[in-house]
Amino acid sequence: MTPRPGIPFQEMKTPPPSERTQRWIELDRRHCWHPFTPQSLWGEESEILMIESGRGVWLTDSLGRRYIDGNSSIWVNIHGHSHPRIIAAMKAQLDKIAHSSFLGFSHGPASELAARLTALFPPDTLTRVFFSDDGSTALESALKLAFQAHIQTPGEENRRRFIAFSNCYHGDTMGAASLGGVGAFFEKFRGFGVEVTHVSSAEELESLPAGECARAAGVVIEPVIQGVNRMTPWPAGMLGRLRSWCDANGVPLIFDEVMTGFGRTGRLFACMHEGVWPDFLCCAKGLTNGCSPMAAVLTTEKIYSAFLGAPEEGRTFYYGHSFTAHPVGCAAALASLDLFEEERTLDKLPPKIALIAELSERLRRENPCVSAVRHTGMIAGMDVCHADGSPFLPRERAGERACAAMRPHGLLTRPVVHDTVVFMPPLCIDEEEIRLAFRALDAGIRSLAELPRPE
Ligand SMILES: *Cc1c(COP(=O)(O)O)cnc(C)c1O
Repeated sequence: MTPRPGIPFQEMKTPPPSERTQRWIELDRRHCWHPFTPQSLWGEESEILMIESGRGVWLTDSLGRRYIDGNSSIWVNIHGHSHPRIIAAMKAQLDKIAHSSFLGFSHGPASELAARLTALFPPDTLTRVFFSDDGSTALESALKLAFQAHIQTPGEENRRRFIAFSNCYHGDTMGAASLGGVGAFFEKFRGFGVEVTHVSSAEELESLPAGECARAAGVVIEPVIQGVNRMTPWPAGMLGRLRSWCDANGVPLIFDEVMTGFGRTGRLFACMHEGVWPDFLCCAKGLTNGCSPMAAVLTTEKIYSAFLGAPEEGRTFYYGHSFTAHPVGCAAALASLDLFEEERTLDKLPPKIALIAELSERLRRENPCVSAVRHTGMIAGMDVCHADGSPFLPRERAGERACAAMRPHGLLTRPVVHDTVVFMPPLCIDEEEIRLAFRALDAGIRSLAELPRPE
């Protein structure tokens, strides 16, 4: 296209918003494949939104409509979108180099980040950092590290079976998925991946037979609150009991803080509520403020030392990804940690947490289509039901429908399972925005009262 005189070329080649959006939707329908999505329903039940930009807690779609980001863009955003401090750090890194390999080389941002992350924990607890790309690969590498450490420790070679919790979620790669306790996601893949025993409580763990304890390769838990399992908190004191059991049985304790890390529960990490330190701590989602895929597994010198020795002893951890310790991700993560201090992010949370608790309890009392709510820190899960209190069937897709109905009220979020609506905003949300979000949650969930009963 040649520019007409007097009209900037840029303007000429940009079609009107609806035309562009239509084109993108068509191309998406023709070529894209969305995660966790029954593709035959994609775009049938609700409009396909093209998110184009974000500022703070607000997202703007390609037609210019604004929404509060009610699930932190799938639980990753912390300080808000396009935070100038984080963008500047990422751009400064891009101006130097976008990517260099951590295999055979190192770089300043990774050194600094490893030091900053380990300094968040008491001395001599979590002192080593193994970087990877996302929550799944963080879990994957923690499992492999634990497994290989046992093989290389005399007397521990038979520790091959992991202990995880019913309904847990630890990611989708084969190893991480094989720990998973949510049948709908993982049943088809049973038999692949690691051996696992599921328990549902600390009591059940404590009453495992001695044979099982001797074979245990690690205990894996989402500390304080399970995410995909309907945002279900654990009883207080749980982590201390797990730590005692693991110490008594010589089993490493693995905390999956992929969702709970970086302030989500009100403390920087969920394990800080109890002051219980694991042998492996996996973090990802919020690490870079959700600005770049990146993960870190923090571990102890004890684990680390099981991998030392001459190369021919074969103790090396042969594991890594092309983008391990990505420099731009490290830069974003460092800036995000700075922001926790500069903006006093955690200090500002208590009134917001109290407001989320108050408004979600009010929803439970006053909205006929809410049967239960659970909240921990900046996380809330709301179970939806028919107006007479009876549960929805999975095929009614009530959670999806409720969330779709929130869009015109200016809120985007998603359910977990089929009937738990999640509210997990960026930590930077203010009280006015929390109130706005709850008005949308209320209206969207209330609209379920009009759903016809399935035959
Ligand atoms: C999201 C999540 C994962 C997986 O992380 P990805 O980055 O999606 O691979 C693992 N564990 C928990 C608790 C999570 O919430």
